[in-house]
Amino acid sequence: MPTRLRPFVTALLLLLTAAFSFDTVPVDWAMVARIREEGLQRSRVMDFESYMTDVLGARLTMSRDMQRGQVWLQAEMTRIGLVNVAAEPYMEYGVTWDNEYVSLHLLEPDYTPMVGYPIAYTPGTDGRKVAQAVVVDLQVREDLDRYRGTLRGKAVLVTPPAAIDLAALASGAPRRTEAELRAIGETVIVPARPAPPRTVRRTDLLTAAEKLAFYKVEGVAVVLQCESGWIGAVRGYGRPGAREDGWSRAGMLAAPAVVAVTPEHYNRMVRILGRGIPVTVEIEVRTRIGERVERAANIVGEIPGTDLADEVVMLGGHFDTWHASPNASDNTSGVAVALEAMRILKAVGARPRRTIRVALWSGEEQGLFGSRAYVREHFGDPRDSTVGVKPGYEKLSAYFNQDYGAGQFRGIYLQGNEAARALLTAWLEPFRDFGMTVVSNQSVGSTDHVSFDEVGLPGFQFLQDRIPGTGGHTNLDFYDTIQAEDLMKNAVVMASYVWHAASADARMPRKTRR
Ligand SMILES: [Zn+2]
Repeated sequence: MPTRLRPFVTALLLLLTAAFSFDTVPVDWAMVARIREEGLQRSRVMDFESYMTDVLGARLTMSRDMQRGQVWLQAEMTRIGLVNVAAEPYMEYGVTWDNEYVSLHLLEPDYTPMVGYPIAYTPGTDGRKVAQAVVVDLQVREDLDRYRGTLRGKAVLVTPPAAIDLAALASGAPRRTEAELRAIGETVIVPARPAPPRTVRRTDLLTAAEKLAFYKVEGVAVVLQCESGWIGAVRGYGRPGAREDGWSRAGMLAAPAVVAVTPEHYNRMVRILGRGIPVTVEIEVRTRIGERVERAANIVGEIPGTDLADEVVMLGGHFDTWHASPNASDNTSGVAVALEAMRILKAVGARPRRTIRVALWSGEEQGLFGSRAYVREHFGDPRDSTVGVKPGYEKLSAYFNQDYGAGQFRGIYLQGNEAARALLTAWLEPFRDFGMTVVSNQSVGSTDHVSFDEVGLPGFQFLQDRIPGTGGHTNLDFYDTIQAEDLMKNAVVMASYVWHAASADARMPRKTRR
């Protein structure tokens, strides 16, 4: 470079360094080093993941499995060294529902064991049943007459044959590309979703709940269905109408037994029946339905703060799962990361200024019930004058959540909170070697940070690699597809973010209220 330009360039470099060094947002590099060392060299995250997936298993909200899991969770939090560990009940949720046994076989025309799981909140089959399978296409009210009196004791196949998504099978565990990450970071206005095409609403269409009621009255042996596009996978949620009847015992007993079957077994039965050849199945489902309505609970634990102990930084994820597998990704991985982040902070002797509280929710899969109830109870809701804003509202700094599968953090979403950009960007700096690079202004939805964000509190979800594994909400979401290194990094990042939020001079800035 020509000598005469040197002073100018030096001045420019100094200026740039000042502008981008985030002098006003300190990074506690000494603490980051301790967190990284503990979390990357002495990690326990896969031990947590293994215990929850292998020993506890599935944890449907309001199941005995969940209650057992929450007892373990509180004990584990105490072992880590957290204080104020508690189960906080929040609502009369319904009765417990547990699947205890499933046996499903194709007997004729060729024996084969089949894979299926009951839909949650449905009853068992009342013993072992051998039944003829029939395809039923029930759409509108007048279809009822066509089938009335013909379905007694039958195994009714009620969904169209499943289309298998071979592309999903081939995709493995893809990482987000640099181009994709850049696009997420640079997109300022997210394109609006196209409006769904206008359809003429038929008033005679039967609802899913009406169809189930009809099958019950007609005395079917079992309803078989398939809503999965993935070989070997059963996608099983809850009975339509269960939320409306408050997960009641009466609602559960008023339904027929419903079993979701893997696409290859389901489609095989449909094809055989299509040839006019009879299909005989044998089925037995046993479920345990609670006798009385019980309250659901969230589990919390803390590392107490010091000079700002009455202020709180929170982290967490939902501990509840759907019921057909341990749901290693959704959201056992998020719970493992939150527990490990707390363990790391205890292990390095962190004494935060603000109290750090972990909350592991229930009721998320049915609609964010646990986190919404918690936010209402502790912080209030400025949109609802019957609740109002509680004193805790001004004491919460921020909430950090993991629930987009088990993939590694690659950045964080601002959730539209531009005031948080400087802090969240500065705290990302120590993890560039992890490939953690993006601060996106986008807002993302569908999990527990929404419960905070919707009342004006800073709630954040990390941007993650999409590691689908075998998919949440299926029978195939096990420990084996979880990437240890991803969860180790996530726990380190989570611990560092909550540490910095708990140590900052000021509370996390909030969005301007509209
Ligand atoms: Zn989830």
